[in-house]
Amino acid sequence: MQPFAFTEEQNMLREMVRDFVNTEVKPLAREIDEQERIPPELIRKIGELGLLGTVFPEEYGGGGFGEIGYCIAQEEMARGCSSTATLIGAHMSIGSNAIYIGGSEELKRKYLVPLARGEKLAAFGLTEATAGSDSFNVRTRAVRDGDHFIINGEKLWITNAGIADIVSLFCRTDRGVTAFVIETQWEGYHAGPPEKKMGIRGSTTNPITITNMRVPAENMIGQEGRGFLIAMKTLDAGRLGLGACCVGTAKEAIELSTRYAKQRKQFDQPIANFQAIQFMLAEMYTLTYAMESIVYRAAADYDAGKKISTQSAMVKLFCSEALDRVVDLAVQIHGGMGYSRELPLERMYRDARINRIFEGTSEIQKLVISHDVLKRNGAWL
Ligand SMILES: Cc1cc2nc3c(=O)[nH]c(=O)nc-3n(C[C@H](O)[C@H](O)[C@H](O)COP(=O)(O)OP(=O)(O)OC[C@H]3O[C@@H](n4cnc5c(N)ncnc54)[C@H](O)[C@@H]3O)c2cc1C
Repeated sequence: MQPFAFTEEQNMLREMVRDFVNTEVKPLAREIDEQERIPPELIRKIGELGLLGTVFPEEYGGGGFGEIGYCIAQEEMARGCSSTATLIGAHMSIGSNAIYIGGSEELKRKYLVPLARGEKLAAFGLTEATAGSDSFNVRTRAVRDGDHFIINGEKLWITNAGIADIVSLFCRTDRGVTAFVIETQWEGYHAGPPEKKMGIRGSTTNPITITNMRVPAENMIGQEGRGFLIAMKTLDAGRLGLGACCVGTAKEAIELSTRYAKQRKQFDQPIANFQAIQFMLAEMYTLTYAMESIVYRAAADYDAGKKISTQSAMVKLFCSEALDRVVDLAVQIHGGMGYSRELPLERMYRDARINRIFEGTSEIQKLVISHDVLKRNGAWL
């Protein structure tokens, strides 16, 4: 059942990623969660397969699959391991994509190409203590000094900050929010210890301190003062990818729950015979069908060059809220076993929760959507 006519190439991409996830990622998912790290060997293999550059054009070292291809790959990855999908998303869809969306040709050649080829890893540094939902309020300061900028400040909650080679960093200059590409081996970069998190534990999230870092002016992404716009455009794409991850996790939860409901017996019969269980499966299936439909509709619009800020906010809002319901029902169908670490559901339940928070909380998505509805006087998109 597909709400969208995928091309043969896209179907082949899905099969390739699914095989890889089944053989190389899923078997490691529990260890990744428990050890709170993704083995570098796995990241290397993901890069070699081209899954760190799926979305970018081939001329920049990417797979040329666009946003639809990226969503397909992330959907399959999140079926096996949400932590690994998060590492890839932060690297590609926001960290590297900021350079693709706003960077000069020189910046793309110098930084995007090795990132898309999987030779280097990226992070996206926007959030600060004073700039969470209010992301415009960044205080990290970039002061011009001849043909350089001197950067000082602190970022919080930055995915991949401890393992990345490059960070797309959002700072404040005299002309407003301005984005720069910085290299993590440059003097003045320090990533603090990883946060201890509820879920996606294998994906590392660190604070960053930047002290007197000298950054060449040519490392500015786009124009001075235009950084917030670049951040918002980048997040439009990032939120679609998060929606795709929700679809993947939801599909996996449905498969696990269906199998379990047919095999687990109570009152001398499989629990799948009980209408209460059947209705839970029906709700999970329906929600996931709706999630899948809006993800790929919005991704197709994005690939067609349409502005999708409202659509991607709706995708992120709906998919993240729906996934919480789906994994909650999946745990319920499994009874006590759903609460046990023996099965992946307990991890999937914890991992799902982040989707309502990062890349803008559900409340912030509602602000974006309602602002547009009011602007259009309710006229349909
Ligand atoms: C695991 C993880 C990974 C992350 N990775 C990255 C990353 O790679 N790069 C990066 O830059 N950031 C990252 N973040 C930061 C993330 O984007 C922020 O946590 C998120 O945007 C929310 O900001 P906050 O935590 O400061 O919450 P706050 O902004 O303090 O929000 C607290 C509550 O208030 C609500 N609220 C705030 N303002 C309003 C309003 N105007 N109207 C209604 N309700 C409102 C929020 O919805 C929320 O419920 C990550 C966070 C986590 C937890």
